[in-house]
Amino acid sequence: MSTKPRQILVTSALPYANGPIHLGHMLEYIQTDIWVRFQRLRGNDCIFVCADDAHGTPIMLKARELGITPEELVARTGEEHRHDFDDFHIGVDNYHTTHSPENRELATLIYKRLKAAGYIAVRSIRQFYDEQAKMFLPDRFIKGSCPRCGTPDQYGDACENCGSTYSPADLKNPVSVISGTRPVEKESEHYFFKLGDFTDFLKGWITTSKLHPAVHAKLEEWFKVGLQDWDISRDAPYFGFEIPDAPGKYFYVWLDAPIGYMASFKNLCDDPKKNPGGKLRFEDYWGKDSQKELYHFIGKDITYFHTLFWPAMLSGAGFRTPTAVYAHGFLTVNGQKMSKSRGTFIKARTYLDHLNPEYLRYYFAAKLGAGVEDIDLNMDDFIQRVNSDLVGKYINIASRSAGFIHKYFGGKIGKTDGGWTHGGIVKVPADSLNMSLLDDMASVEAFYEQRHFSLAISKIMKMADAVNAYWDEQKPWEKAKDNQLGILHDVCSITLEAFRLLTICLKPVLPKVAQEAEAFLNIGELTWSSKDDHLQSGHSINAYTHLIVRVDSKDVEAMSNASKENLLKSPTQAIANMEPIFPEISYDDFAKLDLRIARIVKAEHIEGTDKLLRLTLDLGGETRNVFAGIKSAYAPEQLEGKLTVMVANLAPRKMKFGVSEGMVLAAGPGGKDLWLLEPHQGAQPGMRVK
Ligand SMILES: [Zn+2]
Repeated sequence: MSTKPRQILVTSALPYANGPIHLGHMLEYIQTDIWVRFQRLRGNDCIFVCADDAHGTPIMLKARELGITPEELVARTGEEHRHDFDDFHIGVDNYHTTHSPENRELATLIYKRLKAAGYIAVRSIRQFYDEQAKMFLPDRFIKGSCPRCGTPDQYGDACENCGSTYSPADLKNPVSVISGTRPVEKESEHYFFKLGDFTDFLKGWITTSKLHPAVHAKLEEWFKVGLQDWDISRDAPYFGFEIPDAPGKYFYVWLDAPIGYMASFKNLCDDPKKNPGGKLRFEDYWGKDSQKELYHFIGKDITYFHTLFWPAMLSGAGFRTPTAVYAHGFLTVNGQKMSKSRGTFIKARTYLDHLNPEYLRYYFAAKLGAGVEDIDLNMDDFIQRVNSDLVGKYINIASRSAGFIHKYFGGKIGKTDGGWTHGGIVKVPADSLNMSLLDDMASVEAFYEQRHFSLAISKIMKMADAVNAYWDEQKPWEKAKDNQLGILHDVCSITLEAFRLLTICLKPVLPKVAQEAEAFLNIGELTWSSKDDHLQSGHSINAYTHLIVRVDSKDVEAMSNASKENLLKSPTQAIANMEPIFPEISYDDFAKLDLRIARIVKAEHIEGTDKLLRLTLDLGGETRNVFAGIKSAYAPEQLEGKLTVMVANLAPRKMKFGVSEGMVLAAGPGGKDLWLLEPHQGAQPGMRVK
C-alpha cells in the first residue's frame, strides 16, 4: 500500500460466562471478524481483542447451583467460548477474561482516578434483601405482580405484559427468585458515578465519533431526559472485584466489563509470545492523546453503557475515548425471536455439529448492513443463498474451469492478458462481458469499510453473474468438442483469473475457503493489493477439490431437532418449563395409592419394541411382571439388583407382550432423560411408601 497502514483496535462485546454461545452472539462476532479481516487484507494493522464477562450475581448463583466455585465456572465456560469462536474462524488476537489481574488493576486505577477527581458519590439506598439467602436482590431476582396491570410472575424492573417499567419496590407480592421467600427492604450504602457531570463532554463526543444516525438520535433522547448518577457498587456476597477502601462493596459487573477490553489488550501487550519485541504498547492505544483508531462492535441493547458510561469513565480517568461505537440489531430466526421450543434457539456448538461455519458467515454477511435493524436467519433463504449463490455462482467457476485446464492443458494457465487483461485490469470486450471486475472491486472495498456487507456481497454476486454469463456465451464445452483449444484455454484461464479476484473479495467472509482456493490456484496469500497481479501464462494450478459443498436441508433439519433436544437437557430450562401442578386432591385420594419398594431382580430386552424393558420385580415375597418404557434411558444390566418404587395396586394391563402388573416410578421428560426413583439405603422390598 502506498499510504501508511492504519492502526486499529477493534473489540466485540464480551459474552457472559454463565452459558453457551448461540447464533445471536455469533452475528456480532462474525460481523466484527469480517471487518477486521477486511482491514488486515488491505494491509492495515488491525488488532482484535475480546474476553469473557465473568462477574456478577448470575454467575455466582449458577456456580452455586452447579456446586463449583465461580472461578471454576468462568474457566470452564471461557474454554467453551474460545473453542466455539475458533471453530467459526473468529480471528481474535487475544481472548481474555474480566476476572483477571489486568482487569482488577485497571478497574481499580480508573475508579481511583474518578474518585480523586470528585466523580464518585456515596449515598444510602433502600433495596430488597433476601433474609434467607442473606443477600441483596438484583431487579431480575425479584418477581411479583405488575403494579399497573396486575399480571403475576413479573420481574422487578419491567412487566412483559403491559410493558411498563418500575422499581422492584412497586411490585405487588414480591418474592425472591432465589429462596422463594418474601424479601424485606433494607438500607445500604452505594457508590455512584456522577454521569451528569459529563453531559457537555458527551454532547461533544457524539459529534466527533462516528455513530450511526439511529444511535445518535437515541442519545439525543437520553440527553433530553437528563443523565442520572450510575450505581456502580453491589454488596457482598458478589462475584467481582472489591472496591478499594470499601470492604464488602464490589464493583458492579458493568463497571469492569468494558474495562475488560483494555485488560485484554494489556494482556496481549504483556505477553512476549503474542507481542514479540513489545511492538504493541498499551499507552499508544489507550493513552489520552492516542491517535490510533478504536472501535467497539456491540448489540443495540447495550448502547447506553457504551456511548454514555464508557466514554465518560474513560475521559474522567484520563484515557482516550472510542473512535466509534458500532451497534447492530438482534437476530431473529424464521422471522421470530429465537425460541427454545421451536428449535430456533441454536447454540454455536449445535450449529457446528451439523453445518459448515462458513455458510453462516456468508449468510450473515449477505444480510448485514451498517445500521441497527434486526437480521433474520430464515432457514429456507439460508439454504437457497448458500447453494445457488455461494456454491452455484462462485465455487462452480473454479470447478468447471479447472476441469478443462487439467484435461487439455496439463494444469497450466494460458494467456490471461492478451486482449483481455491490460496492466492487471481485466478488460473484456463489450460484446462478451460488459464490465470491469476491478471497478466493481473498488465499490466492494468501500462497502466493506462502511460495514455495508450486504451491499458488498450483492456486488460480488453480480460480478460472479457476469463471469458466468461470459462462460455461457463462450460455451467452452463446444470449443472442446470442436477442438478449438486455443480459445478454450483463454476462456478457462480468464475465468480462473476472475475466480481469483472473487476470492480476494470474499476472503474476509470465507477465510478457510480462500485459503484452500490459494492452495488450489497454487499462489501465495491473497491480499487486497494482489488484485493487481494476475495468474501468469504457464503457471501450474493444483487439482480442484471441493472448496465448499451445498447445504443439505437434512442437516439444517437435524440442527433444529438437536436444538429442541438441548432444551430437554438443560436443567434450568426444564424448571422454567415445569409442568403445571395438578389440581388439589384429598389425603384419602392419596391413601388409595399403594406404593411399594421393589427390587428389580431381572431386566430384559423384548423382541419387537425399542421402548419397553421387561422388569421382574420382587415385592418381598411376591413377584410382579412389569413392562416399563425406559429402554431409551437404561440398559438392563444397569438395573438388575436395584431397588425402586412401584405402584402395586394399579389394575393389570394387557399389552402386546403380556400383562403388566403395575408401574415403576420415574421422573424426567423422556428419551435419555428419564430417571427411576431409588430409595435411600435401608429400605426393603415390600415396604409401603407413604
Ligand atoms: Zn403490567
